[in-house]
Amino acid sequence: MNMCGKKEGCETSPKTCGNAGGRRLVVLGGGESGAGAAVLAKKQGFDVFVSDFSEIKPKYKALFNKYDIVFEENQHTENLILSADEAVKSPGIPDQAPIIKKLKEKQIPVISEIELAGRYTKAKMICITGSNGKTTTTALTYHILKEAGLNVGLAGNIGDSLALQVAEKEYDYYVIELSSFQLDGMYQFKADIAVLLNITPDHLDRYNYEIQNYVDSKLRILQNQTEKDAFIYWNDDPVVSREILKRKPAAVLYPFAEKKTAGVKAYIEDKKINIETSNDKFIMEEELVALTGTHNLYNSLAAGIAARLLDIKDENIRRSLSNFKGVEHRLEKVARVKGVEYINDSKATNVNACWYALQSMKTPTVLMLGGTDKGNDYSEIESLVI
Ligand code: ADP
Repeated sequence: MNMCGKKEGCETSPKTCGNAGGRRLVVLGGGESGAGAAVLAKKQGFDVFVSDFSEIKPKYKALFNKYDIVFEENQHTENLILSADEAVKSPGIPDQAPIIKKLKEKQIPVISEIELAGRYTKAKMICITGSNGKTTTTALTYHILKEAGLNVGLAGNIGDSLALQVAEKEYDYYVIELSSFQLDGMYQFKADIAVLLNITPDHLDRYNYEIQNYVDSKLRILQNQTEKDAFIYWNDDPVVSREILKRKPAAVLYPFAEKKTAGVKAYIEDKKINIETSNDKFIMEEELVALTGTHNLYNSLAAGIAARLLDIKDENIRRSLSNFKGVEHRLEKVARVKGVEYINDSKATNVNACWYALQSMKTPTVLMLGGTDKGNDYSEIESLVI
């Protein structure tokens, strides 16, 4: 046996294989993803230690106590962290954080919770990324699959972490929302169906103010895909289409776009959404789609392609697209007072999302805007706010 517990002759590096064999796994960040990673790692036989520089929420402390997981809060004790064989970093911790730099100096692999979880499940992975529309499209795709009776879990930035679900449940499919921060810590993980909705400047403060760094991060969704996998993407996005030409993905390509052109598999025509993943076309009147706004039609095309690739019947897709309730804080109609409609779009945290929100307004609109600048150019919305 090797030190990791695997059989002699196994060529997988103990640093990257899934076999714990008592190795030490340190989880940085005791929030949703960190807690899930810790529980899964513990169940897999790792010696687990959780460290959070802030206070850990009581519900996660209770989880650590339940699983007998050692943790600390409000500090990072270096000797307990730098003795790790591998570390799982919460997506909220930047690479520039001193403790991450020290781990890297010591060549201790730092991965994301999704990477860890992917080692311990054989479920089919439907992974969704993009600058905007991830949560909506993930929730919509999940809704379609669930309503069609599939044994499916919802993970990523929504609900329970993937790692916790892998530790405690057995799903055949997962629909996973992937942020660029999660993708940055993913190496061996593979999406069976990958969806890239769009790329517009976001989080540049975490990417050295270099858009290409952020683009490269998003394109990690393609890594390890083979010709047996599918890649769904918005072909009208100049950054995405440029990168596809450059990278020539191995997966089967399913581009969607506003208009039908050669090779496009889903598009909008005569106020209907069309999906052509097989000979029999899926067609649905735009006005029957529950979510409003052009951007949500694109999100519906992406979810529809994914559902069709999983052999969900057209009647089920149609029903789910028409009865989907949407996700709170995304163009959410909260009240109507004295003829004024109040809309909560507080998840529009970048300029492009704000542009789509304003563009979908049919009546005179008062925009209330605030927050911390992430290095964006606001001229994009200028014509819509004056
Ligand atoms: P994310 O998870 O990527 O932040 P959400 O679904 O939470 O995306 O939506 C965030 C904001 O982006 C909301 O204001 C929403 O209206 C807007 N939005 C949703 N889908 C798109 C899209 N395809 N393109 C641009 N903006 C979008």
